[in-house]
Amino acid sequence: MTNINQLQTLKLACEACGQKHLKTVAWLIENQAISCDCGHQTTHQNIEELVIQAVNELK
Ligand SMILES: [Zn+2]
Repeated sequence: MTNINQLQTLKLACEACGQKHLKTVAWLIENQAISCDCGHQTTHQNIEELVIQAVNELK
């Protein structure tokens, strides 16, 4: 991953339903998956993409 502040909070959308989840970069690296209320789990590989997207949105 590029130079990302691990305490940065990111708004990550569930790839199934689009619900937004507020997570820190450090949380994502530790947990490696987001479980959504809709039952969909976004896995680590996708999370890395989502993090990069979310960081780009913050710029
Ligand atoms: Zn969802």
